[in-house]
Amino acid sequence: MSYVDEVLKTVREKNASEPEFLQAVTEVMESLRAVVDANEDKYRKYGILERLVEPERIISFRVPWVDDQGNVRVNRGYRVEFNSAIGPYKGGLRFHPSVNQGILKFLGFEQVFKNSLTGLPIGGGKGGSDFDPKGKSDREVMAFCQSFMTELYRHIGADTDVPAGDIGVGAREIGFLFGQYKRITGLYEGVLTGKGLTYGGSLVRTEATGYGLVYILDEMLSHIGESLKGRRVVISGSGNVAIYACQKAQQLGAKVVTMSDSNGYIVDENGIDLDVVREIKEIKRGRIKEYIDRVPGASYHEGSRLVWSVACDIALPCATQNELDLESAKLLVQNGCTAVAEGANMPSTLEASAYFLEKGINYMPAKAANAGGVAVSALEMSQNSERLSWSFDEVDRMLKDIMKEIYRMTSEAAEKYGHKGNFVVGANIAGFEKVAEAMIAQGIC
Ligand code: NDP
Repeated sequence: MSYVDEVLKTVREKNASEPEFLQAVTEVMESLRAVVDANEDKYRKYGILERLVEPERIISFRVPWVDDQGNVRVNRGYRVEFNSAIGPYKGGLRFHPSVNQGILKFLGFEQVFKNSLTGLPIGGGKGGSDFDPKGKSDREVMAFCQSFMTELYRHIGADTDVPAGDIGVGAREIGFLFGQYKRITGLYEGVLTGKGLTYGGSLVRTEATGYGLVYILDEMLSHIGESLKGRRVVISGSGNVAIYACQKAQQLGAKVVTMSDSNGYIVDENGIDLDVVREIKEIKRGRIKEYIDRVPGASYHEGSRLVWSVACDIALPCATQNELDLESAKLLVQNGCTAVAEGANMPSTLEASAYFLEKGINYMPAKAANAGGVAVSALEMSQNSERLSWSFDEVDRMLKDIMKEIYRMTSEAAEKYGHKGNFVVGANIAGFEKVAEAMIAQGIC
């Protein structure tokens, strides 16, 4: 049995109840076959694959808080510190009722390779809670965040583990978490990224994941003599990533015709009016269906998965994992879609992503496509260490350069190992090689 198959077998036996984690490990391991086979003795000797698939540490804790009616509520909090070979653990916090250990392990595992691809010195981690901020008052969210940080603070720090936002964790939550960290430790340090601009945040961090997604998409299109100009784009989600992907795609001349949330999607043939979406989502914390009350001619459809039935040239899944299955992939291709770039983490099922590759779709997987968020988080860490703030244009230029470089590394790695144009293989190999070398250099730990 090959080294990859041996490790995959053990991972499946040990993590049978964590389907998302198994899915992420399977995708990465399958992509790494060529590079692992070519260096099997070295990687086996140092137990690289066995160590890569096991988090360095998982912290799980009780988060008690009191709601507005005076009831005691209890959620479960986690931090998965996956791999620190190339830097302090770095990765977001997710607050969503679906959060469990398996989902955070999948996200933490993916983060290790993504962070390596950015070229910046950051390891991989992820955390969160099954707490649902939706429908909670600001006071309830604050009470939860303060309780969450009252445990988490002992495990994180500017040079050890630096969390950020993710689903359900935006500027409001990061503010409450930072305030509590500072209060407990007395330290004013870059322990979280995605902070507000008045207390150590970086310009462009809010926009970074969505902008970065469109920058790498544009780079991919330019290599085949195409651009975003005049292209019809379908976007899922209406959160942080979706909003700024929409904004940048529109700035580059595309027409974005959909956005969605977990209940349904809107179609606006005139192109999405992003000011209206931002007011509904960022200010009112409302639902996407409110868009049709504000924009004549737009329509709303129940059922978020059907967003992929809307004809487009380019699809940008920006909501959540496994939101795009084989049936949706077939619909997209059948209706003329020729490019897919993933803003969300692992939005395509294994079958859907295999289908895109089989059909020759220009397909940029999440690990490369959404790395702009964590890249600017790392730039926020640098600014915090220097006690400086860089301008919007400076950070935006760095983000653009980083996304171009990720494209270059990803396409070169794919070509080197005989998979030209397969950015899934390219991203996994390019991310893996640096982490593996660092792990070998640091001995068995
Ligand atoms: P937000 O919380 O800002 O928005 C999430 C969006 O996805 C909302 O529109 C939400 O709808 C929708 N959504 C969430 N869960 C589901 C579901 N089960 N089915 C359908 N729609 C759903 O999160 P972000 O925009 O920050 O994150 C979106 C994705 O991007 C995630 O996969 C995240 O891991 C990834 N990502 C985010 C980064 C960042 O910098 N923020 C960086 C890299 C990746 P609803 O309101 O109905 O829940």
